[in-house]
This record gives sequence, structure tokens and C-alpha cells, in this order.
Amino acid sequence: NLEVFKPAFEVIQKIEEAGGEAYIVGGAVRDYLSGRPVNDIDIATSETPEQIQEIFEKVIPVGIEHGTVIVRHRSISYEVTTYRVEEGYEDYRHPDEVTFVRDINLDLARRDFTINAIAMSRSGKLIDPYNGHDAIRNQSIEAVGMPEERFEEDPLRMMRAVRFASQLSFQIEKKTEEALNQLSHLLEHISVERVAVETEKIFRGPDYALGVELLHTTGLKNHLPILKDLDIHKNVPESSLYGWHEIIAYYVSQYPQISAEDFMKLWKLSKDTKKKTEQLLLAYKRYKKDKKVNAWLVYQLDEELFPSFSRLSSALDSEEEDLNEALTRRKQQLPIQEKKELSFQASDLLQLLSDLPKGPWISEWMSKIEHHVVTGKIENDYEIIKEWVREWNPPARN
Ligand code: ATP
Ligand code: MG
Repeated sequence: NLEVFKPAFEVIQKIEEAGGEAYIVGGAVRDYLSGRPVNDIDIATSETPEQIQEIFEKVIPVGIEHGTVIVRHRSISYEVTTYRVEEGYEDYRHPDEVTFVRDINLDLARRDFTINAIAMSRSGKLIDPYNGHDAIRNQSIEAVGMPEERFEEDPLRMMRAVRFASQLSFQIEKKTEEALNQLSHLLEHISVERVAVETEKIFRGPDYALGVELLHTTGLKNHLPILKDLDIHKNVPESSLYGWHEIIAYYVSQYPQISAEDFMKLWKLSKDTKKKTEQLLLAYKRYKKDKKVNAWLVYQLDEELFPSFSRLSSALDSEEEDLNEALTRRKQQLPIQEKKELSFQASDLLQLLSDLPKGPWISEWMSKIEHHVVTGKIENDYEIIKEWVREWNPPARN
């Protein structure tokens, strides 16, 4: 059923009407042919970015020098890329030159694996010079052309091979795997940021266990910061991990000798990841200590991290129940959701104890009030809190 491609076929038709040619390529064709849900649809075309800009009203130039623009059609974005070949990967990083060409077959030839090197016309006809459809049927990841050459051109492709194995649960074809075993050291030439993207996808994939196994057997693991020092193949998560904060929290919980800070630094991860990791680890420690999701844990943990917390706990312990619901339920029962909902604020405290000079005691006392309210030790009521502060806990006077 080609229904999912209908709007994309309209984009192709417009290009054809203007005298060009265009095909759906890459992941969308692969996922469609293997019966998976189709996400982003990429289109390859004989036309230049300038010509595409003339054909469509809404075009966003995202990478003109690589031949890529985004075309908006029926509120959907399509990456439209001019057929191209890449030459001279002198520094193992980026092709020295991108040359636009007029033949789809040349464009397919530069692609990494045969499962990713299939083009589909707007009638649903396949252009499949490397028998990628057969590889999909055989669930096999196979380099286009000579695997050694392709991995030498761009060593990131080795990580991509493992990533597709994890995502699709496909085997890596023998010659391709041999090249991987031989050339895994070339990964050292790839920036850690690019490696991090693929690594994250490996842990996220439904067959992450196969991915981790392959990282080990191919030797790619030996070129991954921190993970290279761990026996990751013997200590496989019990379920997939989504995002670096979950991966780091998982390994830091398992191996006391490594630190989240080192992970952040060596993998060059973002501040956002750092914040999430710290929160997650703190919450998890608290959970292990108290052996339950208590009020303070739920209050301190951002709601957006509930799924992460739940996944982390099942990755660490398959017996563990799905905690997501428990967290949500517990959160709804909390007397307050945020500090600003406290009926007694810092200004009230200052007013009550107006003879005291301002100082750190204010925030210490506010934290204490917050903790008492959240954990149900006192009611969130102005008079009650005021009484509690005055009667029972006069702050030390200097
Ligand atoms: P996903 O569903 O994860 O996006 P995808 O196959 O679309 O998978 P992308 O990284 O988006 O993967 O790349 C799109 C296409 O571009 C691939 O299918 C492949 O044909 C080609 N490609 C991407 N990266 C490389 C590479 N490093 N070397 C060769 N071809 C590549
Ligand atoms: Mg894609």
C-alpha cells in the first residue's frame, strides 16, 4: 500500500512536470519494503537546489552546497537532494568535493548499504541496482561495492552498520563484517559527536543486544570513550535505553569506577544531557535506598524524565515493574507540584522574623518548609506553616 507516499509522489510529479526526475530514496524505501512504519521521506532529484527553489513555493535552503533543500508540501517536510557523487575522503571525515550528477544510478552508488541504495519512482517502481530488496528479504546489511573501500572512505559507516543491525535486527553480511573487524580502528578518525549519534541509536534499537554484541566482536567498542574500559558485552541492559542520559545513568549505576562527568566530557555531550543525567542518577539512588518511589523523589524529578526513570530501572533489573504509572500517580497525590505553590513564601518568613538580618537561613528554612509540605509532615496552609515556624523551630539567632 503506497498510500504513505502519496504526498511525496505529488512532489515528484511537480519536479517531473518541470522536466526533471526524482525518486524516493534511502530509509523511507527501506522501511516501507521491510514493513516498518515510514518516517521522514527523502527525495533525490536530477535538478539543482536553484531549480527546486523555482518549482516550489516553500523551500528552505538547509544545505545548498551539499545539494539539499527542504520542500514543504501539504504541511510535510521533504529533504530534496540533488543526485551527487562524493570524491576524495582524504581526511576520513568529509568528502573533499561534492559533485552534482544527472544519473540516479551514480547517486545510489555512493550510498552505504544495499538496503539503503534503492530508489522508488512515483509509480512505485524500484530502481535497485544492488539488489537491496533481496538484502531486505534476507535481513542482511551489505556494503555497496567493496566494503573495505567504503569503510576507508567514511569509517562512520561501520557504526552505521551496527546501528542498522540494532534497529532492524538484521545480520551483517560476511564480507562486510570482515571489513568491519579489520578496519574498526579507523573510527579514531571520526569526531566523537558523530560517533555519539550512532551509539545512541544502537542502544535505542529494539535489538540493542545484537548491537552491543557487534560493538564487542568487531572491535569498534575499543574506540568508544569509557565504554572501551567496560565489559559491555557481558553486562547488557535488560531493555533499550533512549538517549545519552539513560545510557550514562545505566553504566554509572553498574560500574562504580566510572563517573558521569567523564562521560560528558569525553563524549562532548550537551549541558541538557548533563542536567538530565544528574537528576536521573540522583532519583535512582534515592529509589534504591528507600526501595520505593516516595514523595520527595517524585517531586524532585522532572515529569519529562519519568519514562527515562522507568526505562532505567527496567534496564537495570528486568523484574522491575513499569514505574512510569506509579510515578505519575504519585505525582498527582503530591500536596504541591512546585515551590511556588507553597502557601508560605520567603517574604512571609522575612516578615515573621523581621528582626533577623537577611542571610542563607532564609533559603535553608524555605527548603525545610518545602520538604515538610511535600512529604506531608505539615499541611500547605499559611497559618499552619506560620505557627510551625514560630512555635517549634525558631531559627538560630546570631
Ligand atoms: P533513519 O531512518 O535512521 O533516518 P536513514 O537510512 O534515512 O535512516 P540517514 O542517516 O537519514 O539514514 O541517511 C539517509 C540515506 O543517506 C541513507 O539511507 C543512505 O542511503 C545515505 N547515507 C547516509 N549517511 C551515509 C554515509 N555515511 N555514507 C553513505 N551513505 C549515507
Ligand atoms: Mg533518514
